[in-house]
Amino acid sequence: MASKSRWADTEEDTALAAKLKKEKEEKRRLKAEKARRGETERQARLVGQQEQTNTATEDDGRPPKRRKTTPEPGQGGASTEKDGDVKLLRFPSRPWDKCRSVENYDCLNDIAEGTYGMVSRAKEIASGRVVALKRLKAELMDRSGLPVTGLREIQILRDCKHRNVVSLQEVVVGDDTSKIEKYNAFSIFLVLEFFEHDLKTVLEYMPEPFLLSEVKLLLYQLTSGVAYLHDHWILHRDLKTSNLLLNNRGRLKIADFGMARYVGDPAPEKLTQLVVTLWYRAPELLLGTRSYGRAVDMWSVGCIFAELLTRDPVFQGSNEVDQITKIFELCGVPTSETWPTFRSLPNARALRLPPKPPPAAAGSVIRARFTQLTNAGCALLSDLLALDPDRRPSAHEMLQHRYFQEDPKPKPESLFPTFPSKAGQERRRLHEPHAPIRGEEAAELGEVDVSGIFQGREKEERGGGFQLRMV
Ligand code: ADP
Repeated sequence: MASKSRWADTEEDTALAAKLKKEKEEKRRLKAEKARRGETERQARLVGQQEQTNTATEDDGRPPKRRKTTPEPGQGGASTEKDGDVKLLRFPSRPWDKCRSVENYDCLNDIAEGTYGMVSRAKEIASGRVVALKRLKAELMDRSGLPVTGLREIQILRDCKHRNVVSLQEVVVGDDTSKIEKYNAFSIFLVLEFFEHDLKTVLEYMPEPFLLSEVKLLLYQLTSGVAYLHDHWILHRDLKTSNLLLNNRGRLKIADFGMARYVGDPAPEKLTQLVVTLWYRAPELLLGTRSYGRAVDMWSVGCIFAELLTRDPVFQGSNEVDQITKIFELCGVPTSETWPTFRSLPNARALRLPPKPPPAAAGSVIRARFTQLTNAGCALLSDLLALDPDRRPSAHEMLQHRYFQEDPKPKPESLFPTFPSKAGQERRRLHEPHAPIRGEEAAELGEVDVSGIFQGREKEERGGGFQLRMV
């Protein structure tokens, strides 16, 4: 038997120890209780602040602080897509109550009836300021009467502040009593800064192509805007020349965020596949991937770069098969060296490629077609039009490219030529073949297996020294 310790307790000690233990436990309980109360109060304060922020946002158009955009694990970002994402777009139930009326503006002229909405030039009555009013089309409202993709466009535009991204000044509403006849149903309008041109119209009407220094300035500005979006976890997903605005002071801005969305890191595994207008759509999207990232925008930047040089869209496919064929003609047929993961894409199985494709000579085909480009310019264009998305440069990498450092340097904005503004004239109906469909429809079509287009259809395309067969 162990001898009794000399520290052994007397009965009195034991009672005292028990009392102290009880007191300690009580103290611990009170402390936990206090911490719980503090946390509840902190949460309540945060909610209050958030509500104030929302109110401020309604009033002055821009939240004072950036919202957290990276989704929590298991959440898919601010998505309305039917991809199993948790929807993070939380708006107050009547978000339009605090919006001013469209009656504060006088319509000057319609600019363009886009694929998804009408854009007009208007003047704010009080200030005389000229703006662009973009009406969100009623047919894109969801069952509860809210324009789902419009909300996403508003949310993203409100968060963005960059010299190369169009700025949203406010959101206004029209109602049944509107004195402007065509706005006679409840409608929501984005009030945007007005720009005299979109790049597509300028390219269409300009008598001479842009000088190389002008192309460089436009490309640099586009890339800066894209770098800003990507830094803020935004994929635009519909970059094309008609969505790039230009003013008469040589400033370019990215517009139309109807297809844009926030993505986290890592990006959600399943995104809508039917995004980006066909002629600007990356090969991985054409081959059915639903897991994609910033490289889809960089492909579109490559297409725009080529279009700025020639004034014509570089790949003008009539459908998905024709589009991918035209891409392979310029960029080469994918091989395990040029695009190691290509075979794992859903629609790749439906592609029958020549058994021995000609050696990848994308660079030389590009060089032969864009003779005005220097070696650095050709290298940049080839990198942007790399079939493998992992090989495309990021927007930041692109800004550092030697193409921008070598002569001719980008032209200063102040020396940029001016053009007569079509936006100040009659309405144009934009012909945008194969623009992606937005809203719920887009989400549903996004699920469609595009391989159906390839299957059961014997098609042989000849071009660029190889034959491509898709079955
Ligand atoms: P949609 O989403 O319907 O395609 P967009 O936002 O692309 O609409 O706008 C359609 C056209 O309206 C553009 O190509 C451009 O010509 C014109 N536009 C859009 N925003 C502006 C603006 N802020 N200033 C001047 N014109 C604009």
